[in-house]
Amino acid sequence: MFDKSDFQKELDTIRAAGLYKNERVLTTSQSAHIATEGASSSLNFCANNYLGLANDERIVKAASEALLKWGFGMSSVRFICGTQSQHRDLEREIAEYVGMDDAILFSSCYDANGGIFEVVLGREDAVISDELNHASLIDGIRLCKAQRFRYKNANMDDLRAQLQAASTAGARRKLIVTDGVFSMDGSYAPLDEICDLADEFGAMVMVDDSHATGFVGPQGRGTAHMFGVADRVDIVSSTLGKALGGASGGFVAAHKEIVDLARQRARTYLFSNAVAPAVVAGSRKALELARNSEDGRERLAENTALFRNLMDEAGFEVLPGSHPITAVMFPGEDGALKATRIADAMLERGVYVIAFSFPVVPRGLARIRVQLSAAHSEQDVRDCVAAFVAARNQVESA
Ligand SMILES: *Cc1c(COP(=O)(O)O)cnc(C)c1O
Repeated sequence: MFDKSDFQKELDTIRAAGLYKNERVLTTSQSAHIATEGASSSLNFCANNYLGLANDERIVKAASEALLKWGFGMSSVRFICGTQSQHRDLEREIAEYVGMDDAILFSSCYDANGGIFEVVLGREDAVISDELNHASLIDGIRLCKAQRFRYKNANMDDLRAQLQAASTAGARRKLIVTDGVFSMDGSYAPLDEICDLADEFGAMVMVDDSHATGFVGPQGRGTAHMFGVADRVDIVSSTLGKALGGASGGFVAAHKEIVDLARQRARTYLFSNAVAPAVVAGSRKALELARNSEDGRERLAENTALFRNLMDEAGFEVLPGSHPITAVMFPGEDGALKATRIADAMLERGVYVIAFSFPVVPRGLARIRVQLSAAHSEQDVRDCVAAFVAARNQVESA
């Protein structure tokens, strides 16, 4: 007979392993300064709010007006009666921005990645994916029948070997798949080298640019533009849930034929409701603001550089790079515990950062991930570093 105490045992196991996730409940909108239940005010360094658009009043206004004009919901999938002219407008604007023929909206980037592989790849094909790719890519790949090859993170020798193996296996199509930015490290996939290998082996390239769209590369058009290979990438997926206003929604931008085929075949598109009208309108405004937000990207880069420099000076080990995702490392056996304690001590000081340990990151490579935003002031950044130093002193003397 069904016994729900089995589930409790699983929960107990998660708790005992120190992996239970308690959700912190915000009592404010998303911002650099938030309040939570239990803490009247915190400096927030763990949102994907890179350009500070999550509570931008111009976006809120556009979404509010759309609510009145376009209504609350679509009550339909896109192909039955769920497509408003603004859905197509947003798709064209996204395609133009990321530099592809066309784009197709999904409820999330999770769904975009969940649906696209089955569209592009069949049993006779091969997918070659980076070992650090996002869970949604991994799940999307599971849902297609292509043969799977995996290469070591950003390792071009291994990518070559896996492409070779896929060729030897007689694959019809080969698709290389990578995150543009790896979210636990803040490192970039070497897209120029990946495109060279793709050319050599006649493979397609897909990039998930969720941690890049809106702020990486010229005009924030993404990693492929930063590497100067936008015309050599075949498929870009990304989210509207991070820099671009942070509401919800995702997309695939690609060759026209692939987008058309996705409208016919992607199950996460065909069998799921259209993106809500207010979110479409707000996201269009977010895209327009992001495109023109040269000063926002500048502030974000300045905050990132300042934080990285000050942390270096304070003697913390920071993974090198320039992305606003900054991994402060606590290596070794006791690293996980130390990272957690420091993050807790920082929260007591009103600075909200998150510690990650195994299995989210490899064993022995625990870290606190800090995410900078254009919404942070210089003082916010300095306060964050000061909290790191104070928390370290507190934890080390305990
Ligand atoms: C956040 C993220 C997603 C999921 O995006 P949603 O729109 O929230 O579903 C997918 N891929 C990567 C790389 C991400 O960072």
